[in-house]
Formats: sequence, structure tokens, C-alpha cells
Amino acid sequence: MNPDVRHDVSRDAPRRPDRHRPPATHRARANRRGASLPSPAGTRRENISAILRRTAHGHCTFDDAVRLLSLPPDSPDALRLRRAAHRAGLRWTGGRGHIWFAIGMDGAPCPRSCAFCSFGERWGLAGTPWRLAGDEAVAAIRAHDVPGVGYIVLRTTDLFPLDDLAEIARRVMPLRHARLVANVGDFREDTARRLHGAGFRMIYHALRLREGMDTGIAPAVRLRTMHAAMAGGLALAALADPAGPEHDAREIARALFLHKCAGADVLGAMARVPVPGTPKHGLGAVTPERHAQLTAVARLVAEPRVPAICAHPPHALLAESGANVLVVEHGAIPRDTQRAHAAWRSFSLDDAAAMLRAAGYRVG
Ligand code: SF4
Repeated sequence: MNPDVRHDVSRDAPRRPDRHRPPATHRARANRRGASLPSPAGTRRENISAILRRTAHGHCTFDDAVRLLSLPPDSPDALRLRRAAHRAGLRWTGGRGHIWFAIGMDGAPCPRSCAFCSFGERWGLAGTPWRLAGDEAVAAIRAHDVPGVGYIVLRTTDLFPLDDLAEIARRVMPLRHARLVANVGDFREDTARRLHGAGFRMIYHALRLREGMDTGIAPAVRLRTMHAAMAGGLALAALADPAGPEHDAREIARALFLHKCAGADVLGAMARVPVPGTPKHGLGAVTPERHAQLTAVARLVAEPRVPAICAHPPHALLAESGANVLVVEHGAIPRDTQRAHAAWRSFSLDDAAAMLRAAGYRVG
């Protein structure tokens, strides 16, 4: 992947012939820029209706996404958006929901010191380093390889040796129900092939929002890893991550389109959890309604080709807004200062399955 893709996407959405695009009137041009609309009564509603009709049929432009992300989250139009995304999600996924079970394999101060992460060395929150023993990891993976769990994710800090991770993967292969996913630091194609050879089938690797400003990693490095992963046979999962109140519509849309253009099989929206003691804590968190709105737009941007929309942390609104993948976490949690010895925030596999079923999905 060309590192410049971020710049290209930010300036200009992926071009798709759009037979439904309205005439290029002054108002339509303003709409595409995401400008506010000094409209005659009813015009705004008609415009949003047209966008929802188009996007629910699998044609979502960058400008559509910006318009939908610019809606007030508690507005009637935002509610219509979430309902449209929910219906589209049920249709495009065949009504199948999945659980993403993540194991935080180790906790340690991380020199990258991302501004939202409890492991950041500079924030002094990580405490004494620890690692899950290989036998414990193998037991946890086997215990959670059950119907309904579509992904088992091994998440590590940069300090966890990848050879040890690969060995754990080899010990648990083959899994009966889940795909094994790695969420690790940056790497090159030879490492991707090694992970794939050990049994991993996917990597979680996003270009985080404000990467390089709020994180200690250059955007080009993240993009290079995505490319290396896919060249090495690993599928890609990448969410708009970690979304906070300070991220505007265009930033979120850029993240969604960039990951879609990169070929991700799992898209979605991760809301930032404000961890006390991290620089981002004071900015707070998005509301559940805003998170649901981001999830809904992710569903529509993804179009039918992308089978999985993941949203985290969980909330019932998310499964009713286009998410068909919910996350259950154990172990080291970058959103928390405490290790989760059971399901993080007591949100279990059963809770995730019940939430998805209540939204109309079949699980397991
Ligand atoms: S998000 Fe990842 S890279 Fe950044 S500080 Fe946390 S563990 Fe390190």
C-alpha cells in the first residue's frame, strides 16, 4: 500500500460512478463539502432520505458518509440512519452475528505512549510487567473456541516475543469455530508469513485516529504493516479507533474509507474509553448515540462486500445500528488500568450473544 493513500483519501473519496448523485447545484455542492444547510423547510430531510436510500442499497460515497456523520447524534435523522444501517446489516450479513473474544496477553509500560492507552510508559499506569503463561493462554483459547465466537484475538504489547505467540498458535491449531487473530506491533511481510504459518488468519491493525499525533507511531509504518499482513496471507480488521468527541465527521470518514480501501474484512467503530491519568482523559467519551451513529455509518460505508462490522465497547444501541460483531475482553486492557481476570466490565460471551440476538442476529 502506498503510504500516500491516507492523503488521497483525506482529500478525495474513492471515486465510484454514482448514477444517483443529484444535480450539481450550489446546494448539492455544499452538501458534498459537509457544509451546514440554510435550507427551505423539508429540503434537509429530503436530502438525508435520498442518501439513506442510496447507501442502504450499497452505494455510499465519502461525501455521503460525511453528511451522515455530521447529523446531531440525538436527532430524528440520526435515528433513521441507525435504523437503516441495522436493516442493511441484517440483510447483508444474512443475519449472522459473531463474538470477537480478545485476550490481552501481557501488561507492560509501552514506550510508544499513545495518548489514550493505559500502557503508555509516560503515564505511569502500567505497573509491574506481567505475561500470561503459554499454558494459560492455550487453555483460554480452547475454552472460548465455541459456537458464536467467530474470532479469538491475541493482543500483545510490542514486548511480547512473536516467536512465543506463534508457538501458542501452533499448539491450539486447528480451532473448531473461531479464526485466530493477532493484534501485535508493526512488522514486515516475513513475520506475517510466520504468523500465518502458525495458524493466524487475520490481524487487527488500524491507522488510529490522529496516528502520529496521539500515538508514538508514524502513519506510514502502520500502513506498511497492513500491506505486509495482507501480502503475507492475513486478512485485515481495522476500526475507526479510538473515536472521541474531538474527532470530526471527515476524520471518521477518512478512517472508514482508508480501511475499506485497504481491503479490510472487518470494519467498525471503537469508542475511546477515557482512562484517568492519560492525556486524553479530559476530553471524555462519545455518547452511546454518537458511537451508534459511527457504527451505522461504518455499516453503510462497508457496503455488502464487508461481512463484519464490529463496535466496542459494547452497548445495545450498537447491535441495533449495524454492528454484527461485539467484543468480549479478558486480560490486559488498554482501556483500563486493571487486569481483567474475568470478562472485562462483566460483559461475557452470553451477554454478547444475548445482545446480538435481541437485535435480530443468529449467533452460533
Ligand atoms: S496503544 Fe499500543 S503502541 Fe500505543 S501505548 Fe498502547 S500498547 Fe503501546
